[in-house]
Amino acid sequence: MKIAVINAGSSSVKFKLFEAKSRSVLAKVTVENIGALGSDITMSFEGKKTKDYAVIKNHHEALKQILELLKTYELLLDFSSLYAIGHRVVHGGEDFCSATLIDEQVIEKLKTLIHLAPLHNRANLEGILVTRKKAPLVKQIAVFDTAFHSKMPEEAYLYALDYELYEKHKIRKYGFHGTSHSYISRLCALEMKRDIKELNIITLHLGNGSSACAIKGGVSIDTSMGFTPLEGLVMGSRSGDIDPAVVFYMQRELGLSVDEVENILNKKSGVLGICGTNDFKAIVSSKDEKSKLALNIMSRRVKKYIGAYMALLGSVDAIVFSGGVGENSAIVRKKILENIGFGIELNGYANSSNGKIISTKNSKVQIMVIKTDEELEIVNECLSFLKS
Ligand code: ADP
Repeated sequence: MKIAVINAGSSSVKFKLFEAKSRSVLAKVTVENIGALGSDITMSFEGKKTKDYAVIKNHHEALKQILELLKTYELLLDFSSLYAIGHRVVHGGEDFCSATLIDEQVIEKLKTLIHLAPLHNRANLEGILVTRKKAPLVKQIAVFDTAFHSKMPEEAYLYALDYELYEKHKIRKYGFHGTSHSYISRLCALEMKRDIKELNIITLHLGNGSSACAIKGGVSIDTSMGFTPLEGLVMGSRSGDIDPAVVFYMQRELGLSVDEVENILNKKSGVLGICGTNDFKAIVSSKDEKSKLALNIMSRRVKKYIGAYMALLGSVDAIVFSGGVGENSAIVRKKILENIGFGIELNGYANSSNGKIISTKNSKVQIMVIKTDEELEIVNECLSFLKS
């Protein structure tokens, strides 16, 4: 019984094939630079890796190419033979609070949500439409990045704006990376051998995109990303929190258009804006003053969010580091937790050797490093949905 997870981006399709029962990965195929002169196709399976280039015009051709590759290595003969397909959908708005079986009605609803995340949701929907054509009888399930945060209380998700902007236009905090926060918080509770319902956890997904989440009894009660993934922590190329007046200033005084400002905040800011690269691995090992500054700004922001979430939760049992940076960089973790107070004690040896539990025995809060796996969590969500 095989199950596939599809993450369709604006110019990429990431496809992962799982054996449903064991949850083991059979193959991963990624097509990048769709629509460019040459697209990159990479595949990994059974410890092997292949790399190829081809002219791939659209998502339909990308999925056709993916199937050809899977057929070549006898990993999948047809999309129709799949047990189910899980689609990552970035924005579920207020309508989708859990994994949802995709039918015509859901597709119509998804179309109405495109304006909330135009780049992401349009591409996600395209992936869904193409896959439905190729495998009309296979159950396809949408798993939303926003769903885990859908139980946040009103005072967490409402911005202090004219209430009508929420009522009429649904301008509010939604939060993202939900699949990751949900997955790592559950693994944290398992590791602690405690019921998640009894725990207060702060999860930190730190990668190119980064977010923090305050989780009470398994429920997200606040998170750093907002109406879009631009809010909150300092990321690879996104600014995170800034005074919104900077936006007016850039338009009025610098003569920049809305699109230009949006591009600057999303693609030219964050650590990239400060030191010229968003490769955290390079930044961490660089001696350049700007790189140090970028790391200081980034880790200080995470520290501020931890403090805020400690206060919101009242008491915290665990802090979890995850994502490419959170999982791999002892230096960043140390910077974030240095002199943080709250009785939090980092075990230097466990931290630098990338252990799973990196706090001392006396630490009032357990600090953990847990590898996230959003595709696996999408499989988990699909299977528990189909079971129910
Ligand atoms: P995305 O948000 O794109 O999924 P990832 O979670 O994969 O990002 O994280 C990618 C980032 O993790 C890159 O900037 C990369 O340099 C960084 N990274 C990977 N390994 C290390 C490491 N050992 N030290 C510091 N940063 C690392």
